[in-house]
Amino acid sequence: MPGGAPGRTHGAAPRTPPPTRPGPASHAHPRDLAVQAAVARGLVGPGEPVAGLLDVDGIRRSAAELRSAFEEFTAPGTPVLHAFAVKAASLVPVLRLLAREGLGCEVASPGELALARAARVPARRTVLDSPAKTRAELREALALGIAVNADNPEELSRIDGLMASAPSTAPIGLRINPQIGGGSIGAMSTATGTSKFGVGLRDEGARAWVVRACLDRPWLTRLHAHVGSQGMSLKLMAAGVADLYHLAEEINEQAGRRQIDTLDIGGGLPVNFASDAVTPTFRDYAALLRSTVPGLMSGRYGLVTEFGRSLLAKHGTIVARVEYAKSAGGRPIAVTHAGAQVATRTVFAPDSWPVRVAAYDVHGLPKTGAPVAQDVAGPCCFAGDLVAENRPLPLLGSGDHVALLDTGAYYFSTHFAYNSLPRPGIHGYTAAPDGTVRFATVRAPQTLADLTAESGGDTPDALRGLT
Ligand SMILES: *Cc1c(COP(=O)(O)O)cnc(C)c1O
Repeated sequence: MPGGAPGRTHGAAPRTPPPTRPGPASHAHPRDLAVQAAVARGLVGPGEPVAGLLDVDGIRRSAAELRSAFEEFTAPGTPVLHAFAVKAASLVPVLRLLAREGLGCEVASPGELALARAARVPARRTVLDSPAKTRAELREALALGIAVNADNPEELSRIDGLMASAPSTAPIGLRINPQIGGGSIGAMSTATGTSKFGVGLRDEGARAWVVRACLDRPWLTRLHAHVGSQGMSLKLMAAGVADLYHLAEEINEQAGRRQIDTLDIGGGLPVNFASDAVTPTFRDYAALLRSTVPGLMSGRYGLVTEFGRSLLAKHGTIVARVEYAKSAGGRPIAVTHAGAQVATRTVFAPDSWPVRVAAYDVHGLPKTGAPVAQDVAGPCCFAGDLVAENRPLPLLGSGDHVALLDTGAYYFSTHFAYNSLPRPGIHGYTAAPDGTVRFATVRAPQTLADLTAESGGDTPDALRGLT
């Protein structure tokens, strides 16, 4: 793949770029074509030294794979809502794209709900989670008919009050923590014994309390669990879903009717950050659920899923210019424009969130050359702002580019405002078989005027009255 695409005629960014055709490129990876085209058209360049790219066909493919996986393993006619976890890619055009592929939204804050509504996702395809919903948020969700999953007993009593004053037909559920244990990343493990999420099912008296809480509230018709994100084994995830299913069966038996009619099994399918292979697949997980909890897929229950990372991660790429190449203590360092502001978790927890880095030359073509161990640094002013340490890559020079792969979820869409670095532009792309790349702006680069205004720039004298 490296060096295979002849395309040097595109050189530096032309002023009015034609559609980029890198020649006979049928073997080039769409991502390589997109990087080259982004550089050729100046979407990444001296003025915009970092950008996010999203593979639109890839996102649509993942959405279709999710839907067909559950269609294959559930009984015909089973209602299934796939609610995309908005925090994984909080970008309105992405939510709209997914909505057109038949997905809804899982939201966990007033901001995420506003984004879902801006994407015209209907209330009946929206699910509100969050451990800290205010009374106003709950009231709004119930009035809109959005499904709400209560996190804890106090929230449930708030909902009691709201339902008494303004009965709602919104589906209401209760979040359960099956307390099955954590995965390999502590901060991502939501089903530990002391997790802050949901009602701990194995705590003393908790199971009986949950059953009673449901029997006392005929409108409580759903159970919800999200047992972790990244680092959880599929087996453990399926075990958590099995606990949820058995609890629902117990409640329904005691109620003498099918009171619990829908199970929300959360998201959390892990992503492979080590290669381009998509593993595990949605189909792997659906098949495992079918064999672990056959009743779940039998049509007895409607299903809600809340996948985030597994739908988007593989379809995003951060492209950044190498501003300087230097060395310290004998180690080469490429100083780039992608650091903690766009790869926050990778920079602060590199062992849990390693990313692949690909090297491209000044024209955005895959860079060749013997691998040399080097650091890939970001622009932030703290020493730990490295996206890769001692990583063997073709030696990077100034004007080259780096790409951080698999960064479509929780990376550039989840900007960290350190050093007042502006939010980079995000561009969706498609790459045709003949190599033609088309772009559409998902989010324009943040201007310094906007950044200044967000930082109180419109009221510079605000503190004068206090002095
Ligand atoms: C974050 C989150 C998700 C999505 O998790 P992924 O690992 O991105 O699939 C789903 N449900 C809830 C409640 C969450 O907090």
